[in-house]
Amino acid sequence: MLNENDKFRYIRHLMLNEVGEAGQVKLFNSSVLIIGAGGLGSPNAFYLTAAGIGKIGIIDFDKVDLSNLQRQILHNMENLDEHKVDSALTKLSKVNDRTKFNIYKEKISKDNILDFIAPYDFIIDATDNFAAKFLINDACILGNKAFSHAGIYEFSGQIMTILPKKSACFACAFEAPPPNELNPRFKAGLFGVVPGVLGALQASEAIKYLLNIGDLLTNKLLSINLKTMNFKTIEIKMNKTCRICSQKGIKQLSNYE
Ligand SMILES: [Zn+2]
Repeated sequence: MLNENDKFRYIRHLMLNEVGEAGQVKLFNSSVLIIGAGGLGSPNAFYLTAAGIGKIGIIDFDKVDLSNLQRQILHNMENLDEHKVDSALTKLSKVNDRTKFNIYKEKISKDNILDFIAPYDFIIDATDNFAAKFLINDACILGNKAFSHAGIYEFSGQIMTILPKKSACFACAFEAPPPNELNPRFKAGLFGVVPGVLGALQASEAIKYLLNIGDLLTNKLLSINLKTMNFKTIEIKMNKTCRICSQKGIKQLSNYE
């Protein structure tokens, strides 16, 4: 139920036929897990909190450093050396006192990720390396959790939404992680707005999924380039022999690192 305060706070949602009171209540009763409290995690966390998601989990084992502030808008100069999830909690709890936050200062692994994702309705991959992205994909397929993948590199990024066994998974699109030396983490430049745009798109996908409205980025990869402003959608088919999501796919997790 919405109280008077809610009716004012969410008035712009309530005016949308696609949301309305019933939709807003659905969001109150929904939960999202954000894996990564950095560049992608920041806009996800702010928009999902503002939208009134009832429970938000955030996982990150890292601490804030000065080079993060170029793009990770959850954090500021007062948070240097602080755990990112603590810094995130300080900001987010001021945005919405109705949302319940669970923060985890841990690194995801094959041994803990299924427990992390189990209590949540939708998972956001806001990580910065291929090993984590494949692990999240595999866990969400095994654990039957819808999730949003995003990846960023220099001026460009890509995003896709995966509904386990119903749409193409990350491994259908990208067979396996590239060799470690090609992993862009820390080695490539990054235009600071790229994770902002991609993270906001992920939050949008999460909210649409929870409300069951609109068209999701399933069986397609949206690829964007902010230098050329070229946005294109590439069709991704479910791979019947996918090593992860096909009938002969994985039965247990393995680490990619
Ligand atoms: Zn697959």
